[in-house]
Amino acid sequence: MTLSGVARVAFVGSRRIFASHLPSMQSYTPAFSRQVHNPATGEVIANVSCMGGKETKDAISSAFDAFNSWSKLTAAERSKGLRKWYDLLMAHKEELGQLITLEQGKPLKEAVGEVDYGAKFIEFYAEEAKRVYGDIIPATLPDRRIFVLKQPVGVAGAITPWNFPLAMITRKVGPALACGCTVVLKPSEFTPLSALAAAELALQAGIPPGVVNVVMGNAPDIGDALLTSPQVRKITFTGSTAVGKKLMAGAAGTVKKVSLELGGNAPCIVFDDADLNVAVNGALAAKFRNSGQTCVCANRVLVQEGIYEKFADAFSKAVKNLKVGDGFGEGVVQGPLINKAALEKVETFVEDAVSKGAKVLLGGRRHSLGMTFYEPTVLSNVKSEMLVSREEVFGPVAPLLCFKTEEEAIHMANDTNAGLAAYIFTNNLQRTWRVSEALEYGLVGVNEGLISTEVAPFGGVKQSGLGREGSKYGMDEFLEIKYVCLGDMNRK
Ligand code: NAP
Repeated sequence: MTLSGVARVAFVGSRRIFASHLPSMQSYTPAFSRQVHNPATGEVIANVSCMGGKETKDAISSAFDAFNSWSKLTAAERSKGLRKWYDLLMAHKEELGQLITLEQGKPLKEAVGEVDYGAKFIEFYAEEAKRVYGDIIPATLPDRRIFVLKQPVGVAGAITPWNFPLAMITRKVGPALACGCTVVLKPSEFTPLSALAAAELALQAGIPPGVVNVVMGNAPDIGDALLTSPQVRKITFTGSTAVGKKLMAGAAGTVKKVSLELGGNAPCIVFDDADLNVAVNGALAAKFRNSGQTCVCANRVLVQEGIYEKFADAFSKAVKNLKVGDGFGEGVVQGPLINKAALEKVETFVEDAVSKGAKVLLGGRRHSLGMTFYEPTVLSNVKSEMLVSREEVFGPVAPLLCFKTEEEAIHMANDTNAGLAAYIFTNNLQRTWRVSEALEYGLVGVNEGLISTEVAPFGGVKQSGLGREGSKYGMDEFLEIKYVCLGDMNRK
């Protein structure tokens, strides 16, 4: 399939998905549509349907009907569908990567890497589908038997962000489908095309209509329909902490199971005893992937005083080499920010830091390419009270903070409401354990800046979220535990 093929499939897919998934919408033609832009050029690349509460209710009914049959398939049958879906995602890896670069802006190599990463969740959960084991518990009375069953929770409402337009979807839909749940998915308004293409490929893989439904458009209306429906038994959300809190409150009305992957404020701690090259490369990867637009991006680089100058110098030189441009450009590793609001946020944070005494070692301005490009930036003399230390900058800005002792570093690292990812660079084994245990975070990278993988549990503590995605633990989010007590065993 060519790129235009994928884009066409996305459009045809949007109609086909709705025509085939929603019985009441056979002749559905959207009253409104929304433009999708290429953030690197501002060009309109697509118009997609703009939906709201009514369409979401239809999608929920469709998912509810499909749940009856999908949940009753054997695990091996569901596994086969997921495996086929994985094969198709991989077969269209290049085109899907191009679609991600077009609508999200990240460099093509990174986008193709996202397809690989995202598809692996489908492969992993195709395998995990067969391992939903229950339990037999020794009974307390001689004529009883106690069984524990694990069953799919039901229809899941999945809401995803724009920064990983494919992987944030597969990380949710993979385990949901493996467990026997069906899904109503709402991708971000900025990046709906990857979602539509993935859903089309799910259909082509033989996953029945109604199992994966995509709705996009008015986020609060779609959110309300998902939250208030008694047929939706699970909300799984990745996005900002502010929206996560609203959804958690909204889910209380019908007491739904909720999992939340929210914002971070990752510390990246470089100790005096670290290997300088390892620390520079690790911090570079942890900070500048996706132009700083990931929830696990190093938001604060804490450097011990003995290595501070050397690190600042080597790190700034490495950042200077990062080529900025359109994600399709040769050798580009830094794309545009997603939109003007993101650019203005980065500007505000840098201005605030500079006004309070931070020094710009590199960058610090909009890029000469215009649009939403921002120069890869390194700030020194940053203090904990500056905005750039308190909140997620979500852009290519690395603030360097200095610390003296291990205790001070731990205190600074934990001094935030967020608790998603943290990184430490040290060659001291005892320190590795001590600091890893003391950090109030869900993920810790030691001498490594890229730690996400489908086989490990991903998720945060404190206000970074609830629950885990990926790994065997990701299945629990879509399962209910049922206890069955068999009495009167000895009756003949
Ligand atoms: P966002 O503004 O919270 O949006 C996320 C999703 O929620 C989008 O699909 C958005 O729809 C939707 N949404 C917004 N308001 C809603 C409402 N009232 N009801 C229902 N849905 C609603 O976040 P974002 O800007 O897309 O993503 C960036 C944030 O995500 C960052 O904070 C980042 O740290 C976090 N994130 C966390 C993880 C993790 O695993 N912990 C991973 C990636 C990103 P529209 O786009 O259509 O408005």
